[in-house]
Amino acid sequence: MSIAFIADLHLDPVRPESTQWFKEFMNNSTGLLSRLYILGDLFEVWIGDDGGDALGQRAVENIIKSTANAGLDIFFIHGNRDFLIGDDFAKRTGCKILPDPTLITLGSEPVLLTHGDTLCTDDIEHQTARKEMMTSKWKIAFLNKSVTERMDTARSMRTKSETSKKTKSMEMMDVNQQHVEKVMREYGVLTMIHGHTHKPAVHEFNLDNVPAKRYVLGDWYTQKSVLYYDHGRFSLRG
Ligand code: MN
Repeated sequence: MSIAFIADLHLDPVRPESTQWFKEFMNNSTGLLSRLYILGDLFEVWIGDDGGDALGQRAVENIIKSTANAGLDIFFIHGNRDFLIGDDFAKRTGCKILPDPTLITLGSEPVLLTHGDTLCTDDIEHQTARKEMMTSKWKIAFLNKSVTERMDTARSMRTKSETSKKTKSMEMMDVNQQHVEKVMREYGVLTMIHGHTHKPAVHEFNLDNVPAKRYVLGDWYTQKSVLYYDHGRFSLRG
């Protein structure tokens, strides 16, 4: 049985094909996968666990729940779009929420899992906004608003982010290699897996003269990017 890693599905009822792919992927996982790690941005947006129905995401919750019931261990790390996923969601779907980053062991090797946006340290605007929204003060104030108000706020935040993205270079929105190395050193890993940048690749480099790897998952807008781990080997497909 394999372990799979996915990220950046950005599920949204306006793109039903991605939801359909997710459903097929989850249905096919029975007997093939032992564990699934979702490394953030499963949803295009999440406005709180009481807003899932308003966003039209009940079907996705049901897919996760039935797959978890069938025996798949499903783990979730927050993305910058769905950082408001909480304990109610976890309870409803049977998934387990992990902190970002999370250290796991594959074979005998430690591997660091992260959504990836914290690695993009050159994007000061994103890091500043992230810092503010991660505070419990911001979260409580936001979650205290009505579902309609939250939907409106999320929509205007998305428009604002799309506009400001146009002024940023690809390099600025990618990970900062020095920061990647710093984090890997801190956690004592030679392997890191993340999403967020939507640039699927296997980056090989030397970390203090030792070969290291960074696996980047792609999004699910036009492909189904999945990283599999089986018998000591990784394979990135999409
Ligand atoms: Mn992201």
